[in-house]
Amino acid sequence: MTELEVEVTHSSHKRGIKMLLRHICEVCDKEEILTVEQAYDQGWDYPPKMGEFKVASPRTCGYCSINGSLWWLLCVEGKKIADLDEKQLQTLSRILQEPENIMVG
Ligand SMILES: [Zn+2]
Repeated sequence: MTELEVEVTHSSHKRGIKMLLRHICEVCDKEEILTVEQAYDQGWDYPPKMGEFKVASPRTCGYCSINGSLWWLLCVEGKKIADLDEKQLQTLSRILQEPENIMVG
């Protein structure tokens, strides 16, 4: 992890759980604007509560299982970037631009 990533993570924690984020499920493509706390209560796996911004970890809603996530493909199934399809590459580039690209307001 670079220094910049650490800084982003820490400042996100400081902004706290009332921060509104666009939550996008990797598996079913559902999008909801929720605070970090609301999303956590609804079972979303999403940073900063679950995992970290800019790091590939599962981003899934309360109804989907992590075994369809990009993290699963890369870390469990051992896929490489070259094996990813267009949608998975878009997910990856979205993750790398977090949290700025999913912040609301
Ligand atoms: Zn879902």
